[in-house]
Amino acid sequence: MRSDFEYITLGLGGLGSAACYWLARSAGSDVLGLEQFELGHVRGESQDHSRIIRLSYHTPGYVRLAKRAYECWAMVEAEAGESCILRTGGLDLAPRDSRIPLDPYMSSMRTEGVEFEHLDAGEIMRRWPQFRLTPDCHGLYQSEGGIAMAARANTAHQRLAREHGATLRDRFPVTSIRSVGGEVEVVAGGRAYRCRRLVVTAGPWSNPVLRWLGRELPLEVTQEQVTYYSTPYMREFEPGRFPVWIWMDDPCFYGFPVFGEPAVKLAQDAGGRAVTADTRTFDPDPANTARVEGWARTYLPRALGPVHYARTCLYTLTPDRDFVIDRVPGHEAVAIAIGAGHAFKFASVIGRILSELSLHGATPSDLEPFSLSRPILNEKNPVRSYMV
Ligand SMILES: Cc1cc2nc3c(=O)[nH]c(=O)nc-3n(C[C@H](O)[C@H](O)[C@H](O)COP(=O)(O)OP(=O)(O)OC[C@H]3O[C@@H](n4cnc5c(N)ncnc54)[C@H](O)[C@@H]3O)c2cc1C
Repeated sequence: MRSDFEYITLGLGGLGSAACYWLARSAGSDVLGLEQFELGHVRGESQDHSRIIRLSYHTPGYVRLAKRAYECWAMVEAEAGESCILRTGGLDLAPRDSRIPLDPYMSSMRTEGVEFEHLDAGEIMRRWPQFRLTPDCHGLYQSEGGIAMAARANTAHQRLAREHGATLRDRFPVTSIRSVGGEVEVVAGGRAYRCRRLVVTAGPWSNPVLRWLGRELPLEVTQEQVTYYSTPYMREFEPGRFPVWIWMDDPCFYGFPVFGEPAVKLAQDAGGRAVTADTRTFDPDPANTARVEGWARTYLPRALGPVHYARTCLYTLTPDRDFVIDRVPGHEAVAIAIGAGHAFKFASVIGRILSELSLHGATPSDLEPFSLSRPILNEKNPVRSYMV
């Protein structure tokens, strides 16, 4: 079994599968991807049918990154011969005095030349009568918003990586890493592998991996959940009639049209308790479900119906909710990305950026906001603000 590779990726969830794909496009069989569980497992952050993708973001930098993500997804789709993105339109909704004001979203999109519509409650309900809003509500509609087909996109990245010659090994936990003379030694399955560049995309296991390099970040892993409801009004919630949407307040809720299941998916963002990847359970929290249903009874009553199923999933949150995408100071051969609970839509571009850092040592994307050196990541007890 070969033990020297130019590039190794640790962790094959959404971001790592994308990194393997982009690395393999250039480096083919010099790429090794290692995953501790089976490909497509549900213990991390990246499975299920759907994730929201949108250009609507609160800073111009995120809007630019989202534009590049759409371009990268289009390249993946063209090569894979299948869709990963379904455009349904996206709606950001909020009361006028909401905890997450819509103004920064509007100004960021204006700065980046993204077209959107600013709608009052009456107009929103005229177009989507499924909503029951109070007159103080308003919303942003952006037509590129939609669904990133998570499980399907992960499979597409993995398949294409293998077609380009990469080796992807699942059920293969990495048990240590260390820098050796500008390269990296990775121990997995009882053997030592050597590589020129290592990409770490370990999601909720990021701190255990970083500890091997003598680093620890103030991350909080939370146990989140989504619930599929068998609405009796299925047709009203089909894609084409109903958009993806986010309720931009605290608590923050979001949802999808009928997709992947004969049901609509509703959830609260960052509404889960702090756990670790080892202490998490797979049991939905009834209090979280009650919050989602309470909101929906008021604002989206026809979406509710019998619970089709509920599923738990993890977020790996930085205190400021910005990503980490950087090389590890003191270990320049190691690049890492942490998704902060909103990275799936960006998986394509983050994978590409990680490949650019590994192959060329530079990327055209601005990584300053995602730096490991930003002050908040070096505080012991930082103030956490997840509603951005
Ligand atoms: C309920 C929910 C809803 C979400 N909604 C959205 C959304 O609408 N839009 C959006 O953009 N994002 C959303 N996200 C966030 C997004 O899904 C994540 O940011 C993204 O999937 C993170 O991917 P990842 O590859 O970093 O992590 P993961 O998918 O967890 O992958 C990490 C992988 O590393 C492996 N690993 C770890 N340690 C080792 C080791 N030592 N050896 C080998 N393998 C190892 C793990 O087994 C795992 O497979 C949501 C997340 C959740 C949970």
